[in-house]
Amino acid sequence: MKLDATDLRYVTSEEFRVLTATEMGSKNHEVVPSSLIAQIAGLKNGGVNKILGSLAKRNLIAKVRNAKYDGYRLTYGGYDYLAIRALSKRDSMYSVGNQIGVGKESDVYVVADMEGNEMAMKIHRLGRISFRTIKQNRDYMGKRKSASWMYMSRLAAQKEWAFMQVLHEHGFPVPRPVDHARHCILMGFVDAYPLRQITDVPSPGKLYSQLMDLIVRFAHAGLIHGDFNEFNILIKRDSGEPVVIDFPQMVSTSHVNAEWYFNRDVECIRTFFRRRFRYESVLYPRFRSTLDEGDENGENFKLDVVVAASGFGNKEQQILSEYMLDVQGDAGAAEDEEMEEESDEEEEEENSESDGEVPNDKTHDGVRVHPHPPIPSSNTLHRCN
Ligand code: ADP
Ligand code: MG
Repeated sequence: MKLDATDLRYVTSEEFRVLTATEMGSKNHEVVPSSLIAQIAGLKNGGVNKILGSLAKRNLIAKVRNAKYDGYRLTYGGYDYLAIRALSKRDSMYSVGNQIGVGKESDVYVVADMEGNEMAMKIHRLGRISFRTIKQNRDYMGKRKSASWMYMSRLAAQKEWAFMQVLHEHGFPVPRPVDHARHCILMGFVDAYPLRQITDVPSPGKLYSQLMDLIVRFAHAGLIHGDFNEFNILIKRDSGEPVVIDFPQMVSTSHVNAEWYFNRDVECIRTFFRRRFRYESVLYPRFRSTLDEGDENGENFKLDVVVAASGFGNKEQQILSEYMLDVQGDAGAAEDEEMEEESDEEEEEENSESDGEVPNDKTHDGVRVHPHPPIPSSNTLHRCN
């Protein structure tokens, strides 16, 4: 989705009031009646219609014809505007540049502050693709069916923000958190290539150990990344050091399926190194012994508990993970088919593998961990590529 930064500056204060009123009204109305918008904004009905028209023309809101009444809903453009305005009012950012990343559930832009210092802005977009597939009777949907893309995107941003802060404070190689608002996160720009794009490294063995050490460090701190793969590991251009991004799916090591998530992270790295660099090591971390080591060394400082106490608590965690399970559960069937096709091609590349310890959930030809955890759990199900 394109962000029009120039347009952002030309919203009058009345238009802003009407936009904010539409956002507020959408908390309990799928389609917000114009009269309610006028009431919240404190404007006369007549006056509000013109403003609604001009906001709709710029795609900040959209007119919806309902069986019972006509009204408006906030669009992604409108929600982006409100978040970006909040960030620029606080002088956290000033301008929006090129888009650098587009994922299934986010857009990432280079942005800058007044002094021209570059940052990355990640806009969470849950529900962009698969929202239709969500079960309508989920508790978290409640009355807010139409607003839930907004709510879910905001929750994902909140979670990412909470984790980025805690990890950064504890010296993990993650981007520097700058600010956040609604569904947007501002963070330090990392001048790097995703590992996915790297064809050659000076020492695959060294990088492999660095990445496995990171998985171990996360676990000693009570955490599992949950999507630790070549897309979410950036390799700095100057130093070749890895930086880890993308935290909305992180889980605690006390999660019921923690071992499964841990093994999947480890397996993603092993598989990638085997295919890309033809590098294979007999050394890789095991869940139980990693946790025991952490306890023995007194390193277990329980960041999962710190994050839970920081405002992104269990309730939010549960709501977000139920959503993610629903979405990815539905997407799962298609992905499984895709994976079948891929694995045929890969078979030639793969050497048959005989690990001493084959996790239960790993296929016996040793190719990959199954994309779904053994029992339904409260977390996302990203596949390992
Ligand atoms: P998604 O959840 O959509 O996978 P990511 O957080 O993984 O989003 O970001 C998507 C892409 O955006 C990354 O692969 C990377 O290329 C780019 N990116 C994200 N954060 C930064 C950052 N702080 N600095 C530079 N590039 C980034
Ligand atoms: Mg990612």
